[in-house]
Amino acid sequence: MIITLVIIFGLMVGSFLNVCIYRIPREESIVHPRSHCPHCNFQLRFWENIPVLSYLFLRGLCSNCKTTISFKYIFVELLTALLFILLYNHYGLTFDFVMSIIFICVILVITFIDIDYQIIPNQLLLVGVIPAVYQIISVGFQNSSSYFIGAFGLGIGILLISLMGKVLFKKESMGMGDVKFAALIGLLLGWQNGLLAVFLAFLSSAIIILILLPFSKISFGQRIPFGPFLSLGTIIAMLWGPIIITTYLQLMF
Ligand SMILES: [Zn+2]
Repeated sequence: MIITLVIIFGLMVGSFLNVCIYRIPREESIVHPRSHCPHCNFQLRFWENIPVLSYLFLRGLCSNCKTTISFKYIFVELLTALLFILLYNHYGLTFDFVMSIIFICVILVITFIDIDYQIIPNQLLLVGVIPAVYQIISVGFQNSSSYFIGAFGLGIGILLISLMGKVLFKKESMGMGDVKFAALIGLLLGWQNGLLAVFLAFLSSAIIILILLPFSKISFGQRIPFGPFLSLGTIIAMLWGPIIITTYLQLMF
């Protein structure tokens, strides 16, 4: 019963995240006007704005101009719902669950904006500070050193790597957006889990580059957004970080 509600809630929030992903980089309001077709500007009627179901009813076409609606919208909705279920299983119905939801929403919007525009808007990072502050208050300021070390360590670490990349490749490989995003991740996860998240980000980006290179989908020196990989690493570290770290330490020592 609760799982069903979590899924429906996840789909609805995912639908709102689509609005944020579309409008924030265009500097449009995220609350007004109602959703419209990006092609013909036709305002969606209530029944055309139901997550997933409307897409299936309309068979992926705008009811007015029949332009194909990007599959990305339904993908974001389903992904949001899936992550909400995973977070619910992890935290249960707690305030931590609510805060983790806020952070995951920030991560999702950052990911899809970074893929399309290669920017990480500051206002999104600021929303991500809310769950970080909550966490520092809930564990107590004197017990928060791991989070502050995480924020400074990962921020400065990514900054140094980005500067090194600039010197070696004579062009920007990672931007200040990535530096700030890494600092936020460190602030939220603490330095141990944060380090794992960044390691997973580098690992997954290397794997993706190795997969894509032979197919000429990307070329050497092409700028690939790093935000999505940071997001992937963060989600894995949030959900399974302690298990991964303990297993790793047991295998090594
Ligand atoms: Zn249309």
